[in-house]
Amino acid sequence: MLNVKCMNETLELKKTVNLPQTNFSQKANLGQSEPARLKKWTDAKLYERIREARKGAEKFILHDGPPYANSDIHLGTALNKILKDFVVKSRTMMGFDSPFVPGYDCHGLPIETYVEKKLAEKGKNKTDLPVSTFRRLCREHASNAMDGQTRDFSRLGVFGEWENPYLTMSNEYEAETARLFGKFLERGYVYKGLRPVYWCIHDQTALAEAEVEYKMHTSPSIYVKFPLKDDAAKIDENLADKRVSLVIWTTTPWTIPANLGITVHPDFEYAAVEHEDEVLIIASELLAFVAVKCGIGGVNKEGERQLPRVLAKFKGSRLDGLKAKHPWIDRDSLVMTGEHVTLGGEADAETELDVADARNRSETGKAGTGLVHTAPGHGHDDFLIGKEHGLEIYCPVNNAGEFTSDVEHFAGENIFQANPRIVDLLRERGAMLFDEKYEHRYPHCWRCKNPVIFRATPQWFISMDKEAQTEEKISLRANALEEVAETKWHPSWGETRMANMLKGRPDWCVSRQRAWGVPIPVFYCTDCDEPVASPEIVNRIADIFQKETADAWYNREARDLLPDNFKCEKCGSANFTKETDILDVWFDSGSSCVAVLETRDNLQFPADVYFEGGDQFRGWFNSSLMCGLAAHDRAPYKQVVTYGWVVDGEGKQMHKSGGNAISPNEVVQKSGAEIIRLWASAMDITEDVRCSDEILQRVTDAYRKFRNTLRYALGNLEGFSPETDKVSFAEMLEIDRWALASLDEAIGKVVNGYETYNFQAVYQTVYNLVTVTLSARYFDIIKDRLYIFAPKSVERCSAQTALYEIADKLSRLLAPILAFTADEAWENLPQQKVESVHLAEFPRVSGADNSQLLADWERIFAIRDEVLKRLEEARSEKKIGSSLEAKVILTTAKETTRFLIPYYEDLRYIFIVSQVEVHEGDALAVEIQKADGAKCERCWNYSLQVGASEKYPTVCERCFEALKEIDQTAVA
Ligand SMILES: [Zn+2]
Ligand SMILES: [Zn+2]
Ligand SMILES: [Zn+2]
Repeated sequence: MLNVKCMNETLELKKTVNLPQTNFSQKANLGQSEPARLKKWTDAKLYERIREARKGAEKFILHDGPPYANSDIHLGTALNKILKDFVVKSRTMMGFDSPFVPGYDCHGLPIETYVEKKLAEKGKNKTDLPVSTFRRLCREHASNAMDGQTRDFSRLGVFGEWENPYLTMSNEYEAETARLFGKFLERGYVYKGLRPVYWCIHDQTALAEAEVEYKMHTSPSIYVKFPLKDDAAKIDENLADKRVSLVIWTTTPWTIPANLGITVHPDFEYAAVEHEDEVLIIASELLAFVAVKCGIGGVNKEGERQLPRVLAKFKGSRLDGLKAKHPWIDRDSLVMTGEHVTLGGEADAETELDVADARNRSETGKAGTGLVHTAPGHGHDDFLIGKEHGLEIYCPVNNAGEFTSDVEHFAGENIFQANPRIVDLLRERGAMLFDEKYEHRYPHCWRCKNPVIFRATPQWFISMDKEAQTEEKISLRANALEEVAETKWHPSWGETRMANMLKGRPDWCVSRQRAWGVPIPVFYCTDCDEPVASPEIVNRIADIFQKETADAWYNREARDLLPDNFKCEKCGSANFTKETDILDVWFDSGSSCVAVLETRDNLQFPADVYFEGGDQFRGWFNSSLMCGLAAHDRAPYKQVVTYGWVVDGEGKQMHKSGGNAISPNEVVQKSGAEIIRLWASAMDITEDVRCSDEILQRVTDAYRKFRNTLRYALGNLEGFSPETDKVSFAEMLEIDRWALASLDEAIGKVVNGYETYNFQAVYQTVYNLVTVTLSARYFDIIKDRLYIFAPKSVERCSAQTALYEIADKLSRLLAPILAFTADEAWENLPQQKVESVHLAEFPRVSGADNSQLLADWERIFAIRDEVLKRLEEARSEKKIGSSLEAKVILTTAKETTRFLIPYYEDLRYIFIVSQVEVHEGDALAVEIQKADGAKCERCWNYSLQVGASEKYPTVCERCFEALKEIDQTAVA
């Protein structure tokens, strides 16, 4: 009978304990809950409602650099969009109107190549189709790839106009791209010049790298002397009055007539060596190899080969600017320095550029002389360095592969047939050191299978240094450098990097011999070849593009594009042909600052910020800057933020084939988009951004901590009404005020982190708040008060007031990063008025000076740490079970004892023990004893008063008071 009564009483008592309750579950189930929340957002038109809510507010525009619409998203593109989403969401919560219009880069070679491959699978060829049909197939492919990316990006919780992204292939955009070309024309920046491209002399056409095949080919390999024209004493005193020659190596003797220079590496060591009655210059590291091959140095009496005597050694930079003589043509060959010079070693021949330069290198590993024969009209590197040094892009070879009349001895001759005759001539002139047959991989035409050549052809350029035909007369380069200094760069080294890149960049070659892009809207007079490149005509064409897409260029005849009765200014002819080249895709994406920012009502030029990976210094930051300058004389951005590459856990590049790539879609399915989002905030993005399963596991653990913190706060707010139950700050218990002061401090750091794009600071601040301040300290301590005190007691309401502030403010601070979870927490806050956290604003710092409060509590927690340590020892010594079985005897120095006086009553709760005694002594000492009295059945604290009440004989005096209040409430 007695047992039964006790049991009943226990049950009753348990009901009087305020246990937490919330719908915010412990298990997140993000894989399922996220799609449901996305649907909810879509159904509620949340993005549109945010726009509505911020209408009229100051704008903050992050302009999206368009990813290429060719493949699925990968971790790099996912990170890119998530970081941008952090910016957009956080600026929105700062009160800005921050719309986000995502974009896609839709034109270009990878899509063409893909479509060509698909055609080949069906046994078809690109050239069998009309250009317009081919372009339609490209458009379809880009459109499909784009839809897939849109689905995946929005699944990540990225807000934006996903229904209406900007596409570089849309008719409006193509029209704007053409108009922008007109702007460049208007300023007089555009010119037509020569540039080397692959050329098939059989088909007489330029080829793109995708149109050449690599096959073995036998070429003459020759080592040729170029006599130094300058006084060799300029290199080294030892060489004064000597006959000095520079030794080059090449496998294309036919390019020797076009030689205008010799390039050495500025940092390699070169040697001047004796050979018969002259001196030869060769890279030191290749000296032995070349000496053996060419028989330099001779043979000793025993018949052994001797290395030649070295007269001087010096860095390549010593040769910079000297002049050599062409072996037979009366012309100088300028010595230049270039980083592209190698000491042999074979190019991988993976790309056009590698192969183009392979003619100056060797297949076998070691070859060449470290001095590169440079013919700017016949090689890519040659072209670049030639341009840099103001050399002519000289190409004395016609469409059919014959030398022009310019070339003495060989005019009209086929270049390949001329090869042996050039070797003979070099030998005759005493310029030939050595020649042999040489087998190597060489590019061939994919159609006719003949070897191709590299040959300068006319291309469209945008000049970096021409003065604009405007009042300011400023060049693009000078204007760009001014604007770079005006822009704010994050990290700040971005400014130097961008400035250096601009200082070194050559003129921008904007023409491509491709089909999938915006055609260069220029005509040629059929009769006199005069180009028609005027802004007026370009704008007219752009208007047509706007109605019909740029396909109009291919669907219409020249006369249907030009104004009626249009005549050639030069010869009066009415016959014109259309330019067949398209614009560089970087011109396309660069145009977005005008084509998007100025055509969308809710955006504006310039953007507040561009936010892209570090590879965009050469890419989009650059092309967009050029386009911004052409349109408005200013940079299209006020700030530029860059971040590092995504790499694996060891810092290695991620590769699908390498097995170390992490697919964002797989992580989303398995763990949730929140985990990728939280990862993006947890990493230092100013360096390479690492990711691995292990790292994601750590992030998942952190996620759980964040979630549990929100859950604790929400769970203990059951029945709390912020309107009626809130306790004013002044009336709150001191530790509750301390918790809010800590939160206040965190708010300042978090908002500053968002403002400075330092999301890692946001993460770390919240992580510390959650794990140290809240979980390890505050929540532990207030648990007793929340559970045991009467529901509406001031003690409990004080703690709940703090918890309400914590849940409310933490949800808002986390919303840009944990977009799903913060919104879920927000929904579970009592009496929520705004339906989504994403419509709310960031909390503001109170501005109150809480430094004394925070310092006092740091001091208390330092003592607490000592007490907890001793309690842990007592537990392991089996002196006590739970800490509530303990009584703490604290001895402290006089000053500390005084400091603790106001906290004396609270110390048992702070230490989570039943009793605390404080004694004055020499230094801090902690003694643990068994608590006095009996265990209260309700709160499990020990008290001498248990049994004092007749009504509740098993509870302590504190519980008795609480129960009295609960009884009264029940009666009322
Ligand atoms: Zn061919
Ligand atoms: Zn004409
Ligand atoms: Zn009790």
